[in-house]
Amino acid sequence: MEKTEKMANIEPVRLNADSEFQFKCHKGVKCFNQCCRDINIILTPYDIIRLKARLGLSSEEFLTLYTEPQILAKTDLPVVMLKLFDEEGADDGRKACPFVREDGCLVYVDRPTTCRYYPLGVGSLSHKEGSDEDEFYFFVHEPHCLGFEEEKDWTVSQWRRDQGVDVHDEINAEWTDLVVRKRSFPPNMQLTEQTKKMFFLVSYNIDKFREFVFESSFLNRYSVDAETLEKIKSDEIELLKFGLNWLKWLLFKEGDFELKMVAVATAKGENT
Ligand code: SF4
Ligand code: SF4
Repeated sequence: MEKTEKMANIEPVRLNADSEFQFKCHKGVKCFNQCCRDINIILTPYDIIRLKARLGLSSEEFLTLYTEPQILAKTDLPVVMLKLFDEEGADDGRKACPFVREDGCLVYVDRPTTCRYYPLGVGSLSHKEGSDEDEFYFFVHEPHCLGFEEEKDWTVSQWRRDQGVDVHDEINAEWTDLVVRKRSFPPNMQLTEQTKKMFFLVSYNIDKFREFVFESSFLNRYSVDAETLEKIKSDEIELLKFGLNWLKWLLFKEGDFELKMVAVATAKGENT
């Protein structure tokens, strides 16, 4: 995902999975924690699922406390960014991530995708197998980051595995694919406000999406088999995958979603 604020610092080197670099980050570096200030981190659906679980919050509570809405450039899609806060005692006006502490990241085990990639950025959002977009990476080489002076060798794919970002990308793959495909829509093809709302609900507010599936007329309108229902009731990753399939159907009319006959008739304005 994107760490967008310091584009001027991005080295124009296109990296692939086998590209090599030297880097190490540890508590002994002079710049420890500097990268957790003045940042723009767009959160992914899986980031929110992990962070809210770590903090014992509902998705709604997490969104309210720790995020700011934004419209993603070139897609017109609503996304959320990690909200930064003024630091106690800091007089340089810089804002910091709410989870940074003197001894490191409070949510390190469940840190967001962007934090895992750092000092790399992702040039293509698409991690879906068979995607038309080539995956590529670049260095987010910020002047304060001294990790490049440390002696530890990596390839990009080793780094992704080591940081657990491959798992994040795999779970987010259908979501990033939707974003990439929406970006290629001609500008005159606008989504309705309702569709954007549904995109936001599935992407970021998984607890409310569960309520929407099980407590609204959703299951009267769509045919969902019993096995899927059982899975999505208790497993948030499965619920996210289900929601993303539904979004694909809403946005592109693709996939195996089926309206029940009664809903089709109602949509056509027939008496049932
Ligand atoms: S989540 Fe953790 S690693 Fe990411 S910016 Fe905040 S403190 Fe730093
Ligand atoms: S600035 Fe670079 S080396 Fe310093 S703490 Fe952040 S990632 Fe590590």
